[in-house]
Amino acid sequence: MRHKVIAGNWKMHKNAQETVAFLNDLVNNMPTGKEVEVMVAPAFTNLMLATQILEDTNITVAAQNMHQAEGGAFTGEISVDMLKSVGVETVILGHSERRQYFKETSSSLANKVDTALRHKMRVIFCVGEELKDRKSKQFQNVVFYQLKDSLFHLPKEAWENIIIAYEPVWAIGTGETATPEQAQEMHQFIREQIAHHYGSLADNVTILYGGSVKPDNAQTIFSQPDVDGGLIGGAALNIADFTAIINAI
Ligand code: PEP
Repeated sequence: MRHKVIAGNWKMHKNAQETVAFLNDLVNNMPTGKEVEVMVAPAFTNLMLATQILEDTNITVAAQNMHQAEGGAFTGEISVDMLKSVGVETVILGHSERRQYFKETSSSLANKVDTALRHKMRVIFCVGEELKDRKSKQFQNVVFYQLKDSLFHLPKEAWENIIIAYEPVWAIGTGETATPEQAQEMHQFIREQIAHHYGSLADNVTILYGGSVKPDNAQTIFSQPDVDGGLIGGAALNIADFTAIINAI
């Protein structure tokens, strides 16, 4: 169901002690009266701590990745069952750093999505073009194929458990943000493509923006009609910035 979400992707930051300190701070400083789902995605080693600390709150815990196989000889990998067994119900898939540094492809991501959904896991699926694609005006084409190749085989019902995060690669961790107009243009395009394949359910898909969202630019980006919130990297590591961004929605 379409709703407002602010999700913090901590990447490979915060050890166990830092995770505990941040989450206690977050619980004590959570903005009140906001209709927004707040989510944090700590490293694998800290997921269990996070679900325990946040058990009696409405803050959600997400994983940053998972393997597509149910289990087996995949040294160093984490399965969907392992995530669910520590209380994690949401997983980020297809982050550009996973695509770029770990060579995740649209077809391996389609398998991950299928595995996650089979286990009733909710998926935050990341799409986004590189700078060269924006410069060559191929950005919509690139995002279209990312959606088509990993998601458009899904049945209609599956979309209840999919959130899209549009993250232009050139804006992630660079301090450069898409303008509100650029974000809106792509979010609208994404919604139209989903509508083209699936009809009116597209109106109910939550689409987040990610890429150097900070307290001072959050409000203008979030005020765009097709932007339902944000996937936040750097600014989610600092309690004052993260709560300011939550307040901006
Ligand atoms: C991200 O990693 O998903 C992200 C959006 O990072 P940043 O906010 O630091 O650009």
